[in-house]
Amino acid sequence: MKFNVLTLFPEMFSSLNESIIGRSKEKGLIDINLINIRDFSKNKHKKVDDTPYGGGAGMVMEPTVVYDAFKSIKDKKTKVIYLSPQGKTLNQQKVQDLAKEESITLLCGHYEGIDQRVIDTIVDEEISIGDYVLTGGELPAMVLIDSVSRYIEGVLKEESIKEESFTNGLLEYPQYTRPEMFLDKRVPEILLSGNHQKIDEWRRNQSIINTYIKRPDLLKEINLSEKEQKMLEEYKNLKEGGSK
Ligand code: SAM
Repeated sequence: MKFNVLTLFPEMFSSLNESIIGRSKEKGLIDINLINIRDFSKNKHKKVDDTPYGGGAGMVMEPTVVYDAFKSIKDKKTKVIYLSPQGKTLNQQKVQDLAKEESITLLCGHYEGIDQRVIDTIVDEEISIGDYVLTGGELPAMVLIDSVSRYIEGVLKEESIKEESFTNGLLEYPQYTRPEMFLDKRVPEILLSGNHQKIDEWRRNQSIINTYIKRPDLLKEINLSEKEQKMLEEYKNLKEGGSK
């Protein structure tokens, strides 16, 4: 998978040289091509922004420099995404869909944003990472690269992504590792039993309970078996003194 990133601050992306993403780059599973928009400024001071027409606060990134930077990308086909608080919020389904693309170009805005005319010319889709405003699109671009890369073959073991939060509509079950006893807390007995069928059942139930506690909205979309519904009702009765 190739990621082209159009940015005024390519140095910010050095954190993607670490850990799983860094190793995947080294293995050639992902390629991150950083394009410094400022390199395409024809201004002698390398200026890339100007005051907004109509007045108002802040500066707007000029269309020509962004367009010239975009035109330097030679990929035959690339999906162009503008990271913007006005876009659709990124979620797991979108992440998995984007992982099927061969090339993605991420446009990072700064200041008040980018001249609308170049957005209308080159952008296929606007994506937000949440309903709040950041100073620039670099962190959102890194969030997108990190989340999408996890779904590229070879980046992670298949089991790691099969059972985690959101993949099956539920949040993941709690995880434990050594030591068996931490402070006064023991690892749940079932996880030491070696009975994988029972462990799977326990994990599924914990997953349902975890989702009920933290994200009950997600449960509305899930078909629970009769046994699971009963288990959840029992949990609610125990914790909340429910009437049923
Ligand atoms: N004036 C713009 C508005 O009100 O919609 C906000 C501009 S913001 C200060 C500067 C840049 O940060 C944007 O062009 C975008 O690239 C990026 N950005 C800010 N918040 C974001 C978010 N929640 N998701 C994705 N990108 C964001």
